Amino acid sequence: MNIIFKYKHRSIIMKFNNLTLFLSRVFYIILLGSQYIFVFILSGCSSGWNIHNPYEQVDWEDHRQYKANFHTHTTRSDGKFSPQAVVDKYHKLGYKILTITDHNEVTFPWTDFAAMEPSDRAKERLENGVLEQKSLTYENRDPEALGMVAIQGNEVSTPHHVNSFFTDYEKRTDQEQIALESIESRGGVVVINHPGRYTGENPKKYNTNWYADILTRFDNIAGIEIYNQVDRYPTDRQLWDSVLVELMPGRPVWGFSNDDFHGDLNKLGVGWNVFILPELTEESVRTGMEEGRFFYVHAAEGHNGAKPPQIESVNVNRKKGIIEIKSIGQDSIRWISGDQVIQRGNSIQLTKNTEIFDYVRAEIFGPGTITGTQPFGIHNP
Ligand SMILES: [Zn+2]
Ligand SMILES: [Zn+2]
Repeated sequence: MNIIFKYKHRSIIMKFNNLTLFLSRVFYIILLGSQYIFVFILSGCSSGWNIHNPYEQVDWEDHRQYKANFHTHTTRSDGKFSPQAVVDKYHKLGYKILTITDHNEVTFPWTDFAAMEPSDRAKERLENGVLEQKSLTYENRDPEALGMVAIQGNEVSTPHHVNSFFTDYEKRTDQEQIALESIESRGGVVVINHPGRYTGENPKKYNTNWYADILTRFDNIAGIEIYNQVDRYPTDRQLWDSVLVELMPGRPVWGFSNDDFHGDLNKLGVGWNVFILPELTEESVRTGMEEGRFFYVHAAEGHNGAKPPQIESVNVNRKKGIIEIKSIGQDSIRWISGDQVIQRGNSIQLTKNTEIFDYVRAEIFGPGTITGTQPFGIHNP
């Protein structure tokens, strides 16, 4: 038997193998009820598949697709270029959504760049002749005039780097917990950066449970970076899948692909996110981040114009248990759940025999490029 209850817009599903456990949980839920529970549904007898489709609200005819990078540095921290030079480079590559994420510095708003100070590190590098003066001379930029949305943010460089968005929080702490609590109390959104670095360096602390725990406790963590630069940490995606196995279908975790650009032009425009939005506003970008209304793209030659597969629509047929992708420019598509490829082709047909870990996601391959969907939560009837 399964119980679904809604908490802060998320469906949380509890599974019960025996009646005693079920009754004790029902009692617990009733205790919590006065504070948290808005809807309480018993399920298990409905026909068709209970599929959570992050693209449900997308109008494929009407909404447009926008390129986004949520991770880049300037000479306000350890980057090589001035803030305006970084903005200009992304603008030239057709990006519409950009966050400058200097380490523990909020380089925002863009209309105030001229009043900001370069980092001590940048000043030292200027003295050593590593940087030129123009990288430390700042000019303002008007995102509106550029047709872009500037998102406030920074890379909170606690032991584990995380990006904070939509808040001016910029303190440095030595505990992730404190940073996450502060960002949450300010109404910010978080993305966990390049986890493969930490699972590789300190696997005892940074294991699947550690990530599953913070993702469960902090509702404002939108997801995990699964491509960083030219795929610096390929185990990012292993971690993503292992966390999804733990948390899906109740707690989706969205995958982000970001340049983490520091100044190497070969690493500019290699990883991005395609947002499908009704309008290009800060508010709709925030909703898109929270609801997973985007694809991630990895294209090592993106700065040279490599074109990744483009998704034109995603359709879910719950009655038949089919998820179908219409895309152009692809060589192949594969569907992943846990550490397995479970089907190949444009669509996946779920059956009672499909072995899945409560979610499925698709990877669409083009020549030297990948476009990926967010995970679809699957609740086997
Ligand atoms: Zn980092
Ligand atoms: Zn970074």
